[in-house]
Amino acid sequence: MLPYYLAYGTYKYVKLRFFNDSKPFGCSLAPTVKCNLKCKHCYESRNRMSNKKELSIEAIDNLAERLSKQGMKHCTLTDGEPLITNESIEKCEVVIKHFWMNYIVTNGTMEIPDFPVIYILSLDGPPKIHDKLRGSGVFGKLKKNVRKSPNDNIYALCTLNTTNHKHIPNIIVTAMDLGLKGIMFNWYNPSSANDPLWIDYPTRNKDIDRLINLLDHYPKFIYNTIYELNLLRTPKWTGSCPNHWIPSYDAFGNLKIPCIFGEHAYCSRCGCHVFPALSESITKGRETVQMKLALDFADTFWIKDNIVKNVITNDLVKTLMNYGL
Ligand code: SF4
Ligand code: SF4
Repeated sequence: MLPYYLAYGTYKYVKLRFFNDSKPFGCSLAPTVKCNLKCKHCYESRNRMSNKKELSIEAIDNLAERLSKQGMKHCTLTDGEPLITNESIEKCEVVIKHFWMNYIVTNGTMEIPDFPVIYILSLDGPPKIHDKLRGSGVFGKLKKNVRKSPNDNIYALCTLNTTNHKHIPNIIVTAMDLGLKGIMFNWYNPSSANDPLWIDYPTRNKDIDRLINLLDHYPKFIYNTIYELNLLRTPKWTGSCPNHWIPSYDAFGNLKIPCIFGEHAYCSRCGCHVFPALSESITKGRETVQMKLALDFADTFWIKDNIVKNVITNDLVKTLMNYGL
């Protein structure tokens, strides 16, 4: 039988090339801009100075409904800390009802609710390095919350910068010790030309060589692919970044241009792995971490929405993720 990702890739390739169809399939929304941490590498901290009013629960509900009606099936809840207040948690709850699949990106310092989502936990290093970047005692809280989480669908996301990149093997072991399901790496996006946390391309290439070697040891645990890592070796891919596939909205309901990094996006130094991963899915038809493959694949074959919604359960998601699909 034709693997679903190959069928999906062919379908998407034909739609893109011959029907010029590149409509977004997912979005990212921000339940709040507030956060209890002051990470050195936070791209969202500038927005925290704003006096603007955040979207209400009803307004974010309406926005999510509008986006899902446009055909988007996946949502990532991120930006500030989505689990910081009762209101932001309620916003997560109303948004996730509109999409087939949701990720909540969290710093792990808050209790993790039992929502039918995949949690993406920011992990910047082994304990001391994590706390150096995120603040004293942060790793301890994260560990406690992960241990008692009612949802074990938790994956680590590590942003490599000049402080933590030498600890890649330890970061992987830390994520495994926490009992997480896997880890994804990306590289820090600088906010200016002389940002001290940015890793230059020759150094990034050495990280990539190391990660590709580690993929042999942890093939089921590291969720980056060789294709995606090789794309990130140079800024060449950024000229045709498929950012239109995932529009990002800030906590005030404004579309961020050109992408989640907003007006300060530094494309020629970008280290985001999401769009290289999607490029691989779409243009090569290969398996990647993106669960949207499975969801869009179902859509490809015109299965009725409500049947798919009931069939794509958390257990199925877990099973597919475990097989690296
Ligand atoms: S936890 Fe996330 S949102 Fe909060 S300061 Fe750190 S990087 Fe920014
Ligand atoms: S900064 Fe944003 S738009 Fe620019 S290459 Fe990176 S992800 Fe794409």
